[in-house]
Amino acid sequence: MKNVAKTVGFKEGERNVFFHILTACNLSCKHCYINKEQHGTAQLSKEQIVEWMGLFASEKTKTNLIFLGGEPTMHPNLAYAIAKAKDFGFTVTVDSNGFLFNNLLEKTTPKLLDYLSFSLDGPDAEVNDPIRGSGVFDVCTENIKRAVTKGFNVSLIYTVSRKNLLHLERMVSLLQKLKVKKFFIQVIGLRGNSAAAASEETSQVTRKEWLDIVPEVARNAAKKGIHVTYPKVFLDEGEQFQCAGNVAENYFVFPNGRVYQCPLCEDHPIHSFQIENGKLNPVAGLRENDFFRLDIAEGCVMNKLLQPDTLEYDDQGKAKYKISCCLLKQEIVPEN
Ligand code: SF4
Ligand code: SF4
Repeated sequence: MKNVAKTVGFKEGERNVFFHILTACNLSCKHCYINKEQHGTAQLSKEQIVEWMGLFASEKTKTNLIFLGGEPTMHPNLAYAIAKAKDFGFTVTVDSNGFLFNNLLEKTTPKLLDYLSFSLDGPDAEVNDPIRGSGVFDVCTENIKRAVTKGFNVSLIYTVSRKNLLHLERMVSLLQKLKVKKFFIQVIGLRGNSAAAASEETSQVTRKEWLDIVPEVARNAAKKGIHVTYPKVFLDEGEQFQCAGNVAENYFVFPNGRVYQCPLCEDHPIHSFQIENGKLNPVAGLRENDFFRLDIAEGCVMNKLLQPDTLEYDDQGKAKYKISCCLLKQEIVPEN
C-alpha cells in the first residue's frame, strides 16, 4: 500500500549516541531544551571529543553518532571530530540551527558527514522567526541551498508546538523548493525553556490536534517524494508499549559528563552514567532506569510524571490511551 506510515520498532543491535559537544548557541529559541544548570556551559576539547567517542565506538554494533549543541558548528574542531567519528566507524550526523559556523561546508565533505540536519519551525520568516529568532529563516534556507548544491544529504527538523502546527502543511512546498528529501517532525518536549515558561511557542498540541494534522501532512509530503519521520506519541488500541530504556541503546551525552538514556529525564540529575577520567561509569542511587521498569496503564512513566497534561481518563479514571516512548517513530517512505 502506498504512503502508509509504519511504526519503526526499536532495533536490536542498533545504537544512537546524541553527543552534545558544547551547550553554547548563537540563538535563543523559545522551546530550547538545553538546561545549563543541568548540563553546564563547558565546551569539550578536541581531545575529549575523540576520547568520549571512543567510549561508544564498536566494531560489532552499528552506531549512529549525532553531533549536537548548543550549536555544534560553533565548535572550532567540529570538522576534525566528524572525520574522527568516521574513522571510528560511526554513521555521522550534524544537527545545526542553520548558521553553519566555521565554514563547515568547506571543511568537511558528504563522504565524511552522512547527514546534515537543519532546524526550521515555520515555512516562512513570519512563522519561524518569532520562535527561533529574527533573520534566522533567511540564513537557514540560504545555507540549506548551499549544502544541497554541494551534495550533502540534507534533512529538515520541524518542532511542532501550538504556535506553528497549522503552518506545518506549508512545509511540503518549501521542502520541494529547497530540494530536501528527508523531513523529521518532532513533538515539543517539556524540557529546558518549555518546562520553565509556558507560552504558545512552548505548548504541546492536544492528541486531537496532532492526529488531525501531522499524519496527513506526512502523507502529503511522501506523495511528493519526501521521506518523513515523526514520533508515534499516541499508541493505538492494542499496540504494545515499549520503553526504549529497556529495549534499545540510546545515549544522550552532555559536556559535563552526564549520560542519559531517556531524553525526558534530561532536566533532572537522574542520569544513568557519568563520564569521569575518560571512563563511562554507572551512577549509583535512584536513577532514570529505575523508572523504565515501572509498568503503568498510561505507557511512558516519565511522560506521566513530567507531562501529565498529555493524558486523558474516562469517567472511571481509566487511561483512554497509552503514550508511546518519545523515541518511537513512524516513518513514511515514498515509493518514487
Ligand atoms: S534549540 Fe538549538 S538552536 Fe535553538 S537555542 Fe537551543 S540549542 Fe540553539
Ligand atoms: S520516554 Fe518514556 S518510554 Fe521512552 S525511554 Fe523515556 S521513560 Fe522510557
